[in-house]
Amino acid sequence: LFIVFEGGDGVGKTTQGALLARHLTDLGHEVVMTREPGDTAAGAVIRRLLLDPATGDLDPRAEALLYAADKAQHLAEVVRPALARGAMVVCDRYLDSMLAYQGAGRVLDMGEVTAIAHWATAGLRADLTVLLDLDPGEAVGRIADKDRLEGAGDDFHRRVREQFLGLAEADPDRYLVLAARRNRTATSRSRPRRRSGCSA
Ligand code: C5P
Ligand code: MG
Repeated sequence: LFIVFEGGDGVGKTTQGALLARHLTDLGHEVVMTREPGDTAAGAVIRRLLLDPATGDLDPRAEALLYAADKAQHLAEVVRPALARGAMVVCDRYLDSMLAYQGAGRVLDMGEVTAIAHWATAGLRADLTVLLDLDPGEAVGRIADKDRLEGAGDDFHRRVREQFLGLAEADPDRYLVLAARRNRTATSRSRPRRRSGCSA
């Protein structure tokens, strides 16, 4: 079983993912908790390159390809072997982050980014994606030391949020959308939103 936590920066993905992983472990499952970008040796180098302010401005296409490279390596080295031996994988960010950040955030063509993301992951989809939704103003404010991207403008983070919500709405069977406003153990299921004109 492949479970992914998605959402903007500072919404609590790592915290909630760890709570779920602990619960599944207590139930007797082997659980692999992992994250993107950066959870392989190559990925750690890519992550540093992506997030270090010293990198300066990256061309959006170059950035997208680096995230895709991290993803391909992560699947090959961590996720697929774990799933193959029957472990449960709880992953902090996956495919949707690429669609939201590189597609909507950087305003690249969504069809092209989707194609690159699917190519990098060779079609492996999460069984369940938990989307933690929170107003970006509130979420980013929770972060003390902002990295290169967490310091991006409000409009950027708003586009990211809308894209995540659009993806969840387009495929409700695969998503659980939670309002991430409250404290760590009180996150509640958010009411389905009706929106028009969104596409995955
Ligand atoms: O989730 P985490 O904070 O570890 O992610 C690192 C950074 O990479 C975040 O600031 C996030 O905004 C950014 N990111 C991105 N595109 C992705 C995944 C993460 O811009 N596909
Ligand atoms: Mg972050």
